[in-house]
Amino acid sequence: MNYAKNILETIGHTPLVQLNALAKDIDALVLAKVESFNPGNSIKDRMAVKMIEDAESKGLLNPGGTIIEGTSGNTGMGLALGAIVKGYRLVCVINDKQSKEKIDILRAVGAEVVVCPTNVEPGDPRSYYSVSKRLADEIPNSWYVNQYDNLSNAAAHYEQTGPEIWDQTDGRITHFVVGVGTGGTISGVGKYLKEKNPKIKIWGIDTYGSVFKKYHETGVFDENEIYPYITEGIGEDILPKNVDFDVIDGFTKVTDKDAAIYTRKLTREEGIFAGNSAGAAVKGLIQLKEHFKKEDVVVVLFHDHGSRYVAKMFNDDWMRDRGFLGSEIKTAADLVKI
Ligand code: PMP
Repeated sequence: MNYAKNILETIGHTPLVQLNALAKDIDALVLAKVESFNPGNSIKDRMAVKMIEDAESKGLLNPGGTIIEGTSGNTGMGLALGAIVKGYRLVCVINDKQSKEKIDILRAVGAEVVVCPTNVEPGDPRSYYSVSKRLADEIPNSWYVNQYDNLSNAAAHYEQTGPEIWDQTDGRITHFVVGVGTGGTISGVGKYLKEKNPKIKIWGIDTYGSVFKKYHETGVFDENEIYPYITEGIGEDILPKNVDFDVIDGFTKVTDKDAAIYTRKLTREEGIFAGNSAGAAVKGLIQLKEHFKKEDVVVVLFHDHGSRYVAKMFNDDWMRDRGFLGSEIKTAADLVKI
């Protein structure tokens, strides 16, 4: 018989899928690592379980304990799966920019969810950083995960995601392109791949409103780079410990509008129903196309599943309200109204 002993054993070993229509102007083989195939529908299952297991072995998380995290949703889902199988309580602190679907899904899998305002300074007592820390201080037998600075996050990708990509490409990968939030994915995968072959180039996808690109290029943490943006999952107004700038060759920034449009294109032109940061990654890859040549093997990573964004980037009214979808584009419903 061939079966997993619990749902956590099904994490990882996600497929690598060639991009066709969207890569038609790119002179290289472009392969997507599609992480929505994980049981929680995102790459975050990998690092969530690794962080829990490392905390258990360090004695930070004890039987009957409470896991607390400030999470944008996907890490919460991974932690929820771990908490269910291992018997912990989970409290997720989330900001109000995140999609309603993400919050509903977290509650569906048994997490308690606390929603905080987005547009306050990280040091403000209402920010989700501050609220999560306070809950961790006040709830007995609790453990604050801190995916930004918890290095088990990047370690999960060094141990799993990086080796999978190396093996699936038979070591022929030349470039890795990926959105950066906590930095766990780019740093863990990037470190592994560079150890295997230092010539592999590692590119990060950043958003307008985030500090990463400027910091990488100048070493200056420029607060003028920080302003509200719409793209979900990538970009930060802090420098998480999980971002290892030494393994990153460069960043490119993608606009909110392009990220949203390319999220839809990815679904409709490739049949890959992935999330908003995947759209940003595809657009970033296209922006970088002059760096690739015919014999190159470029791997781009898609962090999560599109179902979490059906009321946002996949919704025509939401897109039009933000000026992301031109009024000249007519759907069948518009034609009926005429
Ligand atoms: N995309 C999505 C949808 C995410 O949830 C995250 C995590 N914040 C990322 C991209 C960025 O991944 P990482 O945190 O590993 O840099």
